Amino acid sequence: TLDSTAPALLAPRRRTRAVRVGTVTIGGNAPVVVQSMINEDTLDTAAAVTAIANLHRAGCELVRVTVPSIAHARALERIRKSLEDTYQPVPLVADVHHDGGPIALEVARHVDKVRINPGLFIFRRARLGDYTPQDIERAKAQIREDLKPLIDVLGEQDKAMRIGVNHGSLSERMLYLYGDTPEGMVQSAIEFLEICEQMHFHNLVVSLKASRVPVMIAAYRLAAKMLDERGLNYPFHLGVTEAGDGEYGRIKSTAGIATLLADGIGDTIRVSLTEDPIKEIPVCYGILQALGLRRTMVEYVACPSCGRTLFNLETVLHRVREATKHLTGLNIAVMGCIVNGPGEMADADYGYVGRTPGIIALYRGREEIKKVPESEGVAELINLIKADGRWVEPP
Ligand code: SF4
Repeated sequence: TLDSTAPALLAPRRRTRAVRVGTVTIGGNAPVVVQSMINEDTLDTAAAVTAIANLHRAGCELVRVTVPSIAHARALERIRKSLEDTYQPVPLVADVHHDGGPIALEVARHVDKVRINPGLFIFRRARLGDYTPQDIERAKAQIREDLKPLIDVLGEQDKAMRIGVNHGSLSERMLYLYGDTPEGMVQSAIEFLEICEQMHFHNLVVSLKASRVPVMIAAYRLAAKMLDERGLNYPFHLGVTEAGDGEYGRIKSTAGIATLLADGIGDTIRVSLTEDPIKEIPVCYGILQALGLRRTMVEYVACPSCGRTLFNLETVLHRVREATKHLTGLNIAVMGCIVNGPGEMADADYGYVGRTPGIIALYRGREEIKKVPESEGVAELINLIKADGRWVEPP
């Protein structure tokens, strides 16, 4: 669900066109969509179907697959059918790279959105040596001609396309004209967007990913400005490419994605980790929850502990979290002492606060409800939530 209060404290969200991708909406007033990508070879239908279903069950709302060949593109027909037969329909996006024309055309029949990379999607004669104004116009005409069959198929089926620019794969022409810069990335997107608009195709999402966070942030900010000045109010897919793994991969992704979301920029996100993609999903939801853009879990407030702390905060916080993590929409605070605890947790629904040695106080909002021995604290907290009718049994 959308948190109705917190987003008002961030920069206003950039106004974007709502783009439908299967059963999911990106942009407009829709919540920020979480997506990820399977690593399986789509020629292995069973493995791909399992991976897609697992990601979807974990909260991935849009699943991307890569289709390096026509055979891979055709396999999406089987994958889609198998998902419908054995699980449920899942909104799918296909990534098309080198020599993508015929592959994109084939896969567009089986998925809800096709992602192309303007720097890699080969349009005959349109990449090299097209640098004079006349050459640029010729190149655009060529891109238009090459893109038309795909736009026609997507338009007929009311499907979407992502124009996915990557900092590391700008076309030779864009590199020559603008250099290896955020502007080159944005101009690359604008060129394709304007061509799509001339063909009256508007089901478009844009991404401008980079592996360096400052480049990525600069590109999206510049894109928001330049696209909006041109009336190209298309939603953005945010991501930091090649973010790596572990703690720093999560920090890098969060630094880039959260900075932009706080600016009001971004309509769908992917956290790219060099790990099992299922591990990306909690990071996405964590970012959205922390910013108040979506509430999908309990919001915990806990003090860092200090000399005044009256119990082992780390242990108690862990026990409280384990007992309540399946609930949604609650704020629960765990604070080490009565001196600062109640004031610092003021907006929590429930509080667990050190009162005196061995005794904790349970709060509902700002009101102290009862004092109990620390050994009974977590059980009594659960009883309080139950008494308020806000408890559900864990799955
Ligand atoms: Fe220390 Fe109390 Fe503040 Fe926790 S709430 S950090 S125990 S003063």
